[in-house]
Amino acid sequence: MSRIIFFNIPAHGHTNPTLNVVRELVSRGHEVLYYSYDLFKEKIEATGATFVSCDSYDTQLQLSPKQAARMGKDLSLSTKVLVDTTLALGDAITQELIQLRPDCIVADSMALWGKAIARKLDIPFVSSTTTFAFNQHSAGLLKQSLGDFLRMILSMPQINRQLKRLQDHGYPFRSVLDILQNDDNTHTIVYTSPEFQPFSDTFSDKFSFVGPSIRPPVSTIKKIRPKLIYVSMGTVDNQMLPLYRRCIKAFADLDHQVILSIGTRVPPEAFGPLPDHISLFSYVDQIAVLQQADVFLTHCGMNSVSEGLYFGVPLVMLPQTPEQWAVARRVQQIHAGILLKKTDPKSIRAAVELLLSQTEYRESATQISASFHAAPGAAGAADKILSVCTRNG
Ligand code: UDP
Repeated sequence: MSRIIFFNIPAHGHTNPTLNVVRELVSRGHEVLYYSYDLFKEKIEATGATFVSCDSYDTQLQLSPKQAARMGKDLSLSTKVLVDTTLALGDAITQELIQLRPDCIVADSMALWGKAIARKLDIPFVSSTTTFAFNQHSAGLLKQSLGDFLRMILSMPQINRQLKRLQDHGYPFRSVLDILQNDDNTHTIVYTSPEFQPFSDTFSDKFSFVGPSIRPPVSTIKKIRPKLIYVSMGTVDNQMLPLYRRCIKAFADLDHQVILSIGTRVPPEAFGPLPDHISLFSYVDQIAVLQQADVFLTHCGMNSVSEGLYFGVPLVMLPQTPEQWAVARRVQQIHAGILLKKTDPKSIRAAVELLLSQTEYRESATQISASFHAAPGAAGAADKILSVCTRNG
């Protein structure tokens, strides 16, 4: 039996794909301890793993709303928050980990602390990457503007200071790049198929493209009209009241069923009475909805896109972050969706109707779905992790 430790950041999109993998490891008789956040306790424990709370060490949870909005966009703030958390958590659990003697650490590519602790204690390490894998070829899809590039150069001195803080605490990182990305020598699980991953043939054999990890639905959605349109802007930057209002206007007199997942921070009362064919929820069983959906209006989070394509659903895409733009560009390349260029009700409706009327988008989505089904999935990810473990019998 192996003892495997998972680390993750407080985000559904980064946690969800790992859950089937943990379930698989537990079902094969291995012990999994999952260091995460109280919000995710229930779903982590449902996999059979032991949940360990990191809430008290996470710097991100203590940010003001203004600072939180800059996370991911402001490279020096993001790196500082990651390093603060790494140092706080590292100090708190290093002794515990030495005693636990794990056979492997698996950490989300953004949970820097997992990689840092694995390196410091010389424990085999696997990176869990819920976006595309990026190298010099696939990074082209991120299309950083000159402004982004300059901002990155300007933040370098501050990021170097963070590198130095890690080194001073005994974490053997060699360069800033070492913090920000995985090189070809890092064992890496990527939750997509080689067909969907851009330039998959340029990655070393340490990378396993295992396909998206689709959790089972926990409910059934009743389809009350022949076509179902699903709208979700994910779970992070989803405070988009004006967009939801425009969607409702766009679909008000359509003969289709519409489900909107609006997140927990937009009050449902803000919309007034809705026609029978439109329903609003703060959170839905997205897998159950996508099983029935005909079009998905998405922010292009990697998980949402993978889940939509897994069920062969064509996408109307409204990406917000560089990473979501990269995913959207890839979907465009394979003709499984279209970008929503304007968000007025007329444009939203036109985009949805185009996807409903032109079968080629659904056909392309179905092709990618086939590649997802052919990928080794959670079992392949578990094989990869066990191949790296010190004791894997
Ligand atoms: N999700 C869900 N119900 C909702 C909204 C989202 O189950 O109402 C899940 C969705 O299935 C996906 C994750 O939350 O697994 C969102 O991840 P994604 O990478 O798409 O976006 P993020 O929320 O990280 O921006």
